[in-house]
Amino acid sequence: IENIDRLKIVVVGHVDHGKSTVIGRLLYDTHSLPQGTIDKVKKIAKETGKPFEYAYLLDAFEEEQKQGITIDTTQIQFQTEKREYVIIDAPGHKEFLKNMISGAANAEAAFLIIDAKEGVQEQSKRHAYILSLIGIKKVYVVLNKMDLVDYSKEVYESVKKDMTEFLDTLNIKPIDYIPISAYYGENILEKSDKLDWFKGKSVIEAMDSIEKEKGLDKKPLRFPIQDVYKFDDRRIIAGRIESGTLQVGDKITIYPEGKKTTVKTIEYWADRDKTDVVSAGQAVGITVSDEFFNKRGEIIAFEDSKPLVTNSFRASIFWMGKNNLIKNKTYKIKLATREIEGELEEIIKVIDASSLDSSEQVQKVALNDVAEVIITTKEPVAFDQFSQSQVTGRFVIVDGYDVAGGGIITQAEEEKENKE
Ligand code: GDP
Repeated sequence: IENIDRLKIVVVGHVDHGKSTVIGRLLYDTHSLPQGTIDKVKKIAKETGKPFEYAYLLDAFEEEQKQGITIDTTQIQFQTEKREYVIIDAPGHKEFLKNMISGAANAEAAFLIIDAKEGVQEQSKRHAYILSLIGIKKVYVVLNKMDLVDYSKEVYESVKKDMTEFLDTLNIKPIDYIPISAYYGENILEKSDKLDWFKGKSVIEAMDSIEKEKGLDKKPLRFPIQDVYKFDDRRIIAGRIESGTLQVGDKITIYPEGKKTTVKTIEYWADRDKTDVVSAGQAVGITVSDEFFNKRGEIIAFEDSKPLVTNSFRASIFWMGKNNLIKNKTYKIKLATREIEGELEEIIKVIDASSLDSSEQVQKVALNDVAEVIITTKEPVAFDQFSQSQVTGRFVIVDGYDVAGGGIITQAEEEKENKE
């Protein structure tokens, strides 16, 4: 069951800068690990003659979680006094990108870890770029290993300056830069005396202060039509309310065409009786006052908070097809309940998922590549930017019979002239 108050955070950063140690520390300091696990890890460390590592706690924790089949192993759950969290840890670039770009991970905020002594590295920049690609705006930059630079304010300022310069180019404005030592637990749970010059929040205070997005039922109405049934004399429009709230008597518009009508009845919702109001998460069937032809794939919304409608959009995609994604070929695009033919219009940039190297002026998107592209559909479709609405801002690309790619929409493009 999805706990709506739970906040999903992704932790990224250059290898060895301390991601695992930070996560291990968070688990340890919030007492999220059974004492048995901690003892076991300490014992193993002692027996093997290795120093105790908080990162090992993470391994042990993931090992334990793996035994429950429902939990995705890349998601680590814990709680503070304020609320529950899910930390999304990336085992490798590929899994990370796939999860993020397909929208599966749905993180709301990110912590970007930088080793204060090593400073900003290539991967720090690439991970920041990926955050910008998937539209995560709530970002904290965490300067770790401050113990290695004597908790120096000057070092903090200089790394902060470097990173700010780079993040500016991506249009990311971090909420703050937090100096810590994950290894020694400085500024994780409580403020650290060693960092008394820092007036900001500790890591956990920072997490607890992130404002969760408002509930889905308070967002604009998005009701993608799943099917239209003829029942006696009535036509029942069925589907799932993805966001917002709908009531009998509401004036609605059906996109992409923009047909206007009024909700006459709400026939059913989930397995219950008649009701006058339904909201996000509910499967419903409604009747409307006009008898025009409605069909699967259309989206019901209110005119004052309508979706975008055009036949072209910019997207970040993850490609997992055996065959390359190429121009001048017809693919099937599935967006919410809509299925439509589409083509690759333009490749803006391709990123190799294993090295994170990026290149421009490429002609194809290959297996495991991440790319920024423009896709054009045969007819106008209704959609949203992923950052505004996740279900209507996400799509998959079908090549023949196989799902070959997934992506999120970052921007609507001007309507292209139909090629046929
Ligand atoms: P990851 O690859 O980003 O997950 O990095 P790890 O968490 O595995 O940390 C890499 C190494 O840095 C390990 O040996 C850690 O013990 C060490 N490390 C992590 N945080 C700190 C810190 O705050 N201070 C010091 N001195 N070492 C740290």
